[in-house]
Amino acid sequence: MQATRSTCPYCGVGCGVVIESRGAQITGVRGDPDHPANFGRLCTKGQTLHLTAAAHLQPQLRALQPMRRAARDQPLLPVAWDVALDEVAQRFAQIAEESGPDALGLYLSGQLLTEDYYVFNKLAKGLLGTNNVDTNSRLCMSSAVAGYKQSLGADAPPNCYEDLDHAATVFITGSNMAWAHPVLFRRLEDARRANPAQRWIVADPRRTETAALADLHLQLLPGTDVVLYHALLHVMLWEGLTDPAFIAAHTTGFEALRDRVREFSPAVAAKTCGLKAEDIVQAARWIAGVQADGPRAPTLSLWCQGLNQSSSGTDKNSALINLHLATGQIGRPGAGPFSLTGQPNAMGGREVGGLANLLSAHRDLANPAHREEVAAFWGVQVVPAVRGKSAVQMFEAAAEGEIRALWIACTNPAQSLPNQAVVRRALQRAEFVVLQEAYTTTATAGYADLLLPASTWGEKEGTVTNSERRISRVRAAVPAPGQARADWAIAADVAQRLEKLRPPARWPGWQGETLFPYRSAEDVWNEHRESTRGRDLDITGLSYAQLEAAPQQWPLREGETTGAARLYADGVFPTPDGRARFVAPAWRNVAEPRDARYPVALNTGRLRDQWHGASRTGTLGRLFAHSPEPVLELHPQELARRRWLPGKLVRVASRRGALVLPVAPSEAVAPAQAFIAMHWGGEWLSGGGVNTLTSDSVCPTSHQPELKHAAVRLEPA
Ligand code: SF4
Repeated sequence: MQATRSTCPYCGVGCGVVIESRGAQITGVRGDPDHPANFGRLCTKGQTLHLTAAAHLQPQLRALQPMRRAARDQPLLPVAWDVALDEVAQRFAQIAEESGPDALGLYLSGQLLTEDYYVFNKLAKGLLGTNNVDTNSRLCMSSAVAGYKQSLGADAPPNCYEDLDHAATVFITGSNMAWAHPVLFRRLEDARRANPAQRWIVADPRRTETAALADLHLQLLPGTDVVLYHALLHVMLWEGLTDPAFIAAHTTGFEALRDRVREFSPAVAAKTCGLKAEDIVQAARWIAGVQADGPRAPTLSLWCQGLNQSSSGTDKNSALINLHLATGQIGRPGAGPFSLTGQPNAMGGREVGGLANLLSAHRDLANPAHREEVAAFWGVQVVPAVRGKSAVQMFEAAAEGEIRALWIACTNPAQSLPNQAVVRRALQRAEFVVLQEAYTTTATAGYADLLLPASTWGEKEGTVTNSERRISRVRAAVPAPGQARADWAIAADVAQRLEKLRPPARWPGWQGETLFPYRSAEDVWNEHRESTRGRDLDITGLSYAQLEAAPQQWPLREGETTGAARLYADGVFPTPDGRARFVAPAWRNVAEPRDARYPVALNTGRLRDQWHGASRTGTLGRLFAHSPEPVLELHPQELARRRWLPGKLVRVASRRGALVLPVAPSEAVAPAQAFIAMHWGGEWLSGGGVNTLTSDSVCPTSHQPELKHAAVRLEPA
């Protein structure tokens, strides 16, 4: 038996695992006791990785060889790798020639490894000449990114997991952490056991498993988060709980914010949010942490998609960060605004610039100096200046015929993007759809003209970055089955072909034969880490050899031996004047409020034992024991009022589509609201699952869609 240390491929906690294997078979998995993210713990999804890996070796599930469709009404048939790669290069070169490179779109995934992301990003922006490269991280963290950059100056969660142990108050807002980040939640439970005085406030429209364990549950109405945060600051100002010295020394913009929150009294906010005024006052006092007999008690905020997946996601993030800046609750143990990453490598993807508005090493596409730095580093004359299309825009453009070819890797947009009618129109209208995938069973595979088989967890090498900026190695325990290959290698092979068809204008003095000379994931890593020199996430001191010894947090500069556990301890922020910025957003309601025709607020989210579209977790019976089938969750009062019994089939309709599914009573869901889990699609629920209903309204700053709210109506089916 062989043991290989690696990282769980599911959520952003980034737990270390030890993969047990015999020959080409993964036989077991256990938590890595030495990994600082989990110290040996795993949740149900992590514990069953070896079983889902075995299930995926079944040929009917797994993409084992390149497959090509001669016409849309024909089946996918095997084709040689060389033929497939040549076709991608030729079709992409031809379309770029005819319609310009912005007629191409690359749609990637927060589950790709950093090395995969790096090559794809360089291929699009450095070689093809388009910034149309975006990822499903746009659906996940882009509002947190925009909020951090707007308020603190950089896309950098300032905390570490150890802060859970030090916090006196934990403010969990817009996250069902007990299900979505289970191992980290266990750590939080341990922290409260060790310190029974630790207080939890949970703000969530649902009474989730997390909310049920809180000292104070603020069950606010969907979309009213900014009102709540402004009201909390209003109370802090009224009661003298802010930190004027910190505000004066380390921030700008407080006066405008103070004027903004004046109207958000607890009484006014209580009415808008559907809360009790005294609960808002209590929460403000706990979060401020002022103590009569000692220093301010530390408060840690934890949040995820409840804030991010919103048409005002960036405002919500900044309004929450305001509370930490106003009270100096940042940069010290147990204090700070700590965004939880949804996917395993959404963070690593951003580090290499893998979004339509970013460039390598947290550089900004809109900054001409950054474009020039990256062009010189890559050895090309220019990086195009026009912002690329973000996820929703990319599929809208394909539906309109503006984008003619799509290359999709490691994600399933025909289930996961909102407003599926448009997404499916896009996939039908695009002239050439390349899908790079480990599985043949995703809804998107039905639209692929070319299916390129990719290796997956347990079979590939690279790195990922978790929520606390910690980079861990992902290692191959077994060879990839069939002809499956690493994602970065497929992208590099296409790139080398494209270089011959459309030779790029080279940076003066650039000597190499190819811009993509990689023979291993480590070669890609070494280029990426050099690109970070002098940047906020400088990892020039971090080699694969060092990562073999232990996962590390960034930054870790050349000559350093450990990374930074916590940022901004010195009160200096990565803004031009070194000060954090208060932002004073006005409150905007959800994009599609309830009305007489669509009177119910639909919320979406995760289940405990499933992951995304369930292409991996959905292969294992035991992971259905917790939630066996798709249901529409409604409050028992709603069922009683409508005289519906549990299990009754109900038609749920939004302005974009309709689904039929059984109804289930749930005390977690407030009256006039409903909940459907995001995982069901394909064989479990017709069409694109819940995203048949969801809205593609996006936050104007982050471009993250409002997956957490749609107005729907319910009728007997
Ligand atoms: Fe994997 Fe997340 Fe569970 Fe850890 S908490 S085992 S990273 S799914």
